[in-house]
Formats: sequence, structure tokens, C-alpha cells
Amino acid sequence: MTKRAYNFNAGPAALPLAVLERAQAQFVDFKETGMSIMEMSHRGKVYEEVHHEASSRLLGLLGNPKGYKVLFLQGGATTQFAMIPMNLLSEGKTAGYVKTGSWANKAIKEAKLLGSTFIAASSEEDKYMSIPDVSKLSLPENTAYLHLTSNETIEGTQFRQFPDTGGVPLIADMSSDILCRPFDLNQFGLVYAGAQKNLGPSGVTVVIAREELLQNSPAHLPTYFRYDTHAENDSLYNTPPSFGIYMVNEVLKWIEEQGALAGIEAKNQTKADLLYGTIDQSGGFYRGCANPKDRSIMNVTFRLGSEELEKQFIKQSEAEGFVGLKGHRSVGGLRASIYNAVPYESVKALTDFMADFQKQHG
Ligand SMILES: *Cc1c(COP(=O)(O)O)cnc(C)c1O
Repeated sequence: MTKRAYNFNAGPAALPLAVLERAQAQFVDFKETGMSIMEMSHRGKVYEEVHHEASSRLLGLLGNPKGYKVLFLQGGATTQFAMIPMNLLSEGKTAGYVKTGSWANKAIKEAKLLGSTFIAASSEEDKYMSIPDVSKLSLPENTAYLHLTSNETIEGTQFRQFPDTGGVPLIADMSSDILCRPFDLNQFGLVYAGAQKNLGPSGVTVVIAREELLQNSPAHLPTYFRYDTHAENDSLYNTPPSFGIYMVNEVLKWIEEQGALAGIEAKNQTKADLLYGTIDQSGGFYRGCANPKDRSIMNVTFRLGSEELEKQFIKQSEAEGFVGLKGHRSVGGLRASIYNAVPYESVKALTDFMADFQKQHG
């Protein structure tokens, strides 16, 4: 059997072994066409079927809410930081942003280049270790949309509840937690995610939006950056990242097999409970970074007593087959990303390692 690493990478990240194996079996000859899916025309029947299947499967997992459309784009979530204000923040309007950490700040930076913005809520004072209260936001009448980051990948915080914005479209960067649990798409005008954390390989960006938000791009915008271009052409205006979209479709099938979003959430909660439990029961040897009520079930950030000890932890963990446990360079410490595809066995192995490490160094 192939040896698989205990993969805790933040992104690109672990994919389900079953998906990789299925892709491997279909790699050279896709459905008896004599070609790999990546060798065939995106205008052909075989590819188009996969393309449309991926988008209907995604909406299916979200309960087929009325009036929403899926786009498969490129340029990562980073391009959406700009495309959202380019398409939706018109003259005379302002965009609200919830400032929760590194990724929210990158979204804000792009929007500021393109129009008027305001900070609707922030956890900066708390060094981004919590999620601000968004239950009573006051949004100016000319608010084009409210943007939040549902899961801060670097700090390890996650929204539990989303704000009621009245008639203002709510937009969420869900790059690091999309499909980790059920959520009501009807609360949102638009959600988006780079695929490489919870949906598939890098190179595909998924946007799911209410159709009316995809119809009014300003006239001056170049073609590729317009939502209406992609909506009107079912994400086939130009060559889509076809292999990536095929992989997303396979990951979505796998999610269905796990009991869909409710099944996935239960598994994710079990993994997160095990890991946070190990941290909390270590008598202070391990310390969780995020405020307990705002902890992410996808990115678990924690620290040890000294940077020296953290270095030792990373070194020793790598020697034992663990990958990706170093915290992001901007915040330091340790981080275990436990996305949908990270198996329980990996998390169990990590907590066993953590207990051993504490015995040796505690
Ligand atoms: C990884 C990540 C991004 C950046 O995604 P790219 O696809 O690399 O542009 C944006 N937002 C969040 C929350 C992320 O985790």
C-alpha cells in the first residue's frame, strides 16, 4: 500500500484518498474516450457533462436554493477580493467589511483600491483571536454589500452564526470552510472559495451567487472580470480549469458518500473535539490561540511554552511523518489544518504524538 503522510497542510491540502484513487483509475482513459479529461475539448459533450454535474451537485449539497448560480473561475479567492467590488460596488455606494484577520484584511485592501468601504465590525483589538459580535450591525442605507470571512485560516477563528443584514447582500469568503458543515445559502448574496482547501486542487475558484448579483456588471469592466460574462456562459466563456473542476466533482461525490454536509460536520466536530481536548487537558503545556467560543473546526492554532519548544515540536513531528504543523509565518506557533479530507486517524495520530511529546518535554 502507498504510504500517506499525516497531512495537516493549510492549502493546498489533503484530498480524500478515495478521490485520488478514482482519479488515478480514470486518468489515462476517461470513460473510454482514449483520452484524459485534461486532454479533451471543453466544448465537447464528455467534458460538459462533468462541468454541469459539478455545479448541480454543489447546489444539491446546499439544498438546491432557488435563484442561485455556480461559477467556476480562476485566479483564486484573491481575484474575488477585487472582482466583488469591481462588479458590485458602484459609485455612490459603500461596502462594509468585517475585519477578522489576515484574509479579511487582504479583501479590504483590494476593495479600498476600488471604492468606498467601512469597517462594520472588527476583532483587531483582540489581535484577531475572536469573532466580533455581528448581531447588531448598523449599515448605512447606501451599503452595497457586507463582506465577511467565515473562517480565518491563519488565526484559527470561525463564525458560528451569520448576521442578518436585512436587504443588504451578505458576501462570505468561505475558502477554508466551505462545505465543512451545513449552512443556509439563502442568507447570502454571494459566497466564494479557492478550491484547494476543502473542494479540490488549486486552480479552481468557486463562486455561488444569487442570479441578480451576476447581472449588473458596470459597462467599463473588461470581459473576464465581469460576473455576467461567466454567468451567461455557464463558466465556459473561455477555457475553464477543466481537470480541477472534474476533481471538484469527485470531491463533491465523496462528500455525498460521507452523509452529505450533516455527516461531514459530525466527523469534523469529532476531529476538532479530539484535538482541542488534547490542548485543553494538557495543563497549559499546549495553549489554544483562539477564544474558545470562536475556535475554528478547520484550522486549529496553538502554542507551546517557548519558540524553542515549538521548533522542537515541528522537527520531531516531521521526523514521525506529520506534515504542515508550522503556524503561518505571520503569526508563528503551530497550526493543524483539519479540513474535510483529513481522516480521523491522522488527528488521532497527532494527539498521540502530542501526548508523547508532552511526556518528554513537559
Ligand atoms: C487560502 C485563502 C485565500 C486565498 O486563496 P487563493 O486561492 O490563494 O487566492 C483567501 N481567503 C481565505 C480565507 C483563505 O483561506
